[in-house]
Amino acid sequence: MEAIKYLIGVGDLLTGYLLTYDALTMEFRKIKLPKDTHNCAVCGNHPTILEPIDYEQEVCEETAGRFATRDEQ
Ligand SMILES: [Zn+2]
Repeated sequence: MEAIKYLIGVGDLLTGYLLTYDALTMEFRKIKLPKDTHNCAVCGNHPTILEPIDYEQEVCEETAGRFATRDEQ
């Protein structure tokens, strides 16, 4: 929706904000993002997150066991 608003030049864009939607409570929240992002782990001056995280690799065995199917246990 933001792209359409931007392309046709109508409405207010969410520049500087993050819009969240909670389907359980049917509520939207508009969160103001910090203007100063020099400490951001992704796009800051000294980024520590340099590539997408492989969540399958990051899950420890204990956590993985909780999600195992009955056939695997
Ligand atoms: Zn950032």
